[in-house]
Amino acid sequence: MYDKDNIFAKILRGDAPSTKIFEDDFALAFQNIAPRAKTHVLVVPKGEYTDIYDFSANAPAELQAGFWAAVRKTVDILGLRDNFRTVANTGAGAGQSVFHFHVHIMSDERFKTDF
Ligand code: 5GP
Repeated sequence: MYDKDNIFAKILRGDAPSTKIFEDDFALAFQNIAPRAKTHVLVVPKGEYTDIYDFSANAPAELQAGFWAAVRKTVDILGLRDNFRTVANTGAGAGQSVFHFHVHIMSDERFKTDF
């Protein structure tokens, strides 16, 4: 069940601040407030989906395509073409804490030797 008062919904509505990297009709990308890597950006679709399982089943094809294009554009803005990871935590058991679907884009020197 999607909670319209989650923090990313507030950011999308302009009711909470964020440091924007990229925005279009389909998605918003912004800096993570508590980065876990040198670069740590979040990309959220403009639609009410709790996680990737919900988004991939229920979002219209245009929004799904637009969202992934926005992920790619964000990667290009960050200059990370061949040096980034994406993560989509799904469910509290996997560490998801904000239940508006989002992809983490992360890059860090230590990833070379990490898992
Ligand atoms: P999750 O654990 O759900 O995959 O990731 C949620 C992420 O959102 C966390 O990495 C956390 O640091 C980030 N976050 C939580 N609250 C805010 C906020 O108010 N602003 C921003 N920019 N990021 C947030």
